[in-house]
Amino acid sequence: MPKHPHAIVIGGSIAGLLTARALTDHFERVTIIERDALPRSAAERAGTPQGKHPHNVLTRGMRLMESLIPGLEADLRAHGVAFANWGKHVRTLTRSGWLSDINTELSSPVVSRSLLEWLIRKPLLADSAVTFIEEVQVSGLLTDESRSTVSGVVVKPRRADVTPYELAADFVVDASGRSSKAPDWLESLGYGRPIETTVDPKVGYATRLYKKPENFAGGWHIIYMPARAPGTRGGAVFEIEGGVWMVALGGYSEDYPPNDEAGFIEYAKTLPEPDVYEAMKDAEPLGDIVGYRRTLNIMRHYEKLPRLPEHFALVGDAVCGFNPIYGQGMTVAAMGAVLLRDCLGAAGGSLEGVGRTFQRKLAQQNETVWLMSTGEDFRHPSTEGKRPGFTGRLVQRYIDWVVECLPYDEPMAAKFLHVVNLDQPPTALFQPSVLGGVIRHRLARR
Ligand SMILES: Cc1cc2nc3c(=O)[nH]c(=O)nc-3n(C[C@H](O)[C@H](O)[C@H](O)COP(=O)(O)OP(=O)(O)OC[C@H]3O[C@@H](n4cnc5c(N)ncnc54)[C@H](O)[C@@H]3O)c2cc1C
Repeated sequence: MPKHPHAIVIGGSIAGLLTARALTDHFERVTIIERDALPRSAAERAGTPQGKHPHNVLTRGMRLMESLIPGLEADLRAHGVAFANWGKHVRTLTRSGWLSDINTELSSPVVSRSLLEWLIRKPLLADSAVTFIEEVQVSGLLTDESRSTVSGVVVKPRRADVTPYELAADFVVDASGRSSKAPDWLESLGYGRPIETTVDPKVGYATRLYKKPENFAGGWHIIYMPARAPGTRGGAVFEIEGGVWMVALGGYSEDYPPNDEAGFIEYAKTLPEPDVYEAMKDAEPLGDIVGYRRTLNIMRHYEKLPRLPEHFALVGDAVCGFNPIYGQGMTVAAMGAVLLRDCLGAAGGSLEGVGRTFQRKLAQQNETVWLMSTGEDFRHPSTEGKRPGFTGRLVQRYIDWVVECLPYDEPMAAKFLHVVNLDQPPTALFQPSVLGGVIRHRLARR
């Protein structure tokens, strides 16, 4: 099938990069427009302040990223990134205890976000089909006269003395993250704003890097110790590249971890188990403690707008941002990029209706992850948002029963890890083998 001439992607972060790569299968040229100057190395940048915090890549996310950027896994390994087997190297604390020594093939790279983003960006910089326009921001959409089809974007240079200009495209994708201006743009074109659903767990992060002590032999690459509701505090340690530990403390219900040295250490001592504190207490700190509090779950329902302009789509956090504690955002971004590629493929060379079909399918895809993420958040009484109804509460109770079995039932724990890694749908936890185990466990308890 002949390719369309030109697509524009707004935002050159994880969702934008992966989507641009997916679009090269269907467009001769793809232009990524990014507000930041993009580093030619694994460096942090202003547009993604979350990059200073741990970014866990779920197994499904890694698999999809590798399918879009062949060689990514090898490149990560060549940069000293360890791949953690979820059954052996990820120490996961559940409400009923630690999971350990589970037989599973699930694995994830333990990598800083800046290195991951660089290793995704690097091959795109070398791809002649992809152009980067940096240090400019998109300030609006261009359409045809009837305003029914998007035909490009308005580009606003950051320097005030340079005048805005227009860039034409056959298809435009917004991947500009949580602060996307697409609701304003669509409203000004007469399409109205999407409804927003929000769930606010009032979570705050504080993260600090440490040098991994020499000769440390813990046998893990990640300690993952989420808060156990009604407890509010959790923590994690990620052994990223370069012998560095990224230690993150997190608190629900505005029980935010402090950013000062003494407060950070005291907070770590109060976590549900001592493992994070024990690991960090003798390690050498490598920098400041950095906080982050923009953790609202937000879903923009573009699929419910009565009309959407043709030749336009939205992906990643611009559509759906999750409480980052569960590490789902980048995997969902990769799922969106692959879905858009497939929708374009299924459209048989036409671009009409692709955006609308894509937003509808994306909403279905995101919904499952949303229910998993917000379902956990609602265990904390101060979480704000529309609480689950009777069925939702029943499901939550059942999941509690599943979790009770995990430290004692290895196959069930493996299944649980597949669901957490978005490798299997949550319905996998309702299969007869799991259900049978839950019933046996509950009868035994009696
Ligand atoms: C504290 C924290 C921890 C997280 N941890 C994890 C984790 O463990 N695992 C995980 O999978 N996810 C995690 N996430 C989520 C993850 O960061 C995002 O889901 C992921 O980056 C995909 O986002 P995105 O590309 O859609 O948007 P962003 O990463 O927000 O990027 C948007 C990009 O668009 C650019 N931009 C914005 N407006 C414009 C404009 N008008 N014109 C041009 N460019 C523009 C910005 O400069 C930026 O580069 C975490 C998030 C936070 C906040």
